[in-house]
Amino acid sequence: MRLLDVKNLRTIFHIGVGNVDAVRGISFHVDKGEFLGIVGESGSGKSVTMLSVMGLLPEYASREADQILFDGTELTALTPRQMRGVQGKEIGMVFQDPMTSLNPLYTVGQQIEEPLRIHLGLKKAEARQRALELLDRVEIPDPKTRLKQYPHELSGGMRQRVMIAIAIACEPKMIIADEPTTALDVTIQAQILELLDHLKKNSGSSVVMITHDLGVIASMCTRIIVMYGGLICEEGSAREIFYRPKHPYTWGLLNSVPQIELHKHKKLIPIPGTPPDMISPPAGCPFAPRCRHCMQICRMMPPPETVLPDGHRVFCHLMHPNAPKVEREVNA
Ligand code: SF4
Repeated sequence: MRLLDVKNLRTIFHIGVGNVDAVRGISFHVDKGEFLGIVGESGSGKSVTMLSVMGLLPEYASREADQILFDGTELTALTPRQMRGVQGKEIGMVFQDPMTSLNPLYTVGQQIEEPLRIHLGLKKAEARQRALELLDRVEIPDPKTRLKQYPHELSGGMRQRVMIAIAIACEPKMIIADEPTTALDVTIQAQILELLDHLKKNSGSSVVMITHDLGVIASMCTRIIVMYGGLICEEGSAREIFYRPKHPYTWGLLNSVPQIELHKHKKLIPIPGTPPDMISPPAGCPFAPRCRHCMQICRMMPPPETVLPDGHRVFCHLMHPNAPKVEREVNA
């Protein structure tokens, strides 16, 4: 069952040197209770997509969409005030760097209690009690002491747990986690991902995880959207994306992920070239300059959507029945 249904979302940043087409007309959905991964390089539009959905864009950006339907509410029709009622209450957010997301001047307790008082109208004592329970839920030891501490007194992993406690405080229907583990070391990364997965299973909330690293979400996502150049290139179940990927960019991403079973003499294959200039994005497929299977039509026309019987969506001219049959190159 759909929780979020987005149709033809476009986001433009109006900056001094021109307009940056950050998201160029994408459609996707999030199901209730699912763990969706949105994967792509920096500048692919993955974070901007979810900031647009949330109405959290800077003033110099504009958003257009045919539909952003969240749990029966059309978000594009809401006023900024009504939208603030959705942010933090219906949709919780966890960002990459908790040090910049947390306010250094307020204690952990004050920051967890604030959404509880604003959105749920809890009294001070009730909010304090709930904050203690939340810290316990995100497995922070000695919650009573932590509540009185300031962000700089906590470790990076602990701060990210506090961000997760704030994100789940009002029991949102959806949690957006934008590169939540990038700033953390590997052991803490695994703990935070496990915690998010655990919370999703126990609360029934949907989780949208935004990451540049396919390896990070391999074990927990049910579905994956791969983005490049402000567009979706491929979308499918995690199984399809990892075992039967169809898009040359996804092949490239998979070939550049280190794998434990990779033989020591096998090499990772990097994707050659650089991402497109989004001030004047290519007319055809944005991946064309970096794609070793690029055909003439790829530079002229954006690839159409091909939907396979299992719902796997692919945007590549190679999916045309008359296109040459090419094989995915694998690490050798
Ligand atoms: Fe490569 Fe063409 Fe497919 Fe783009 S549309 S990924 S350039 S084959």
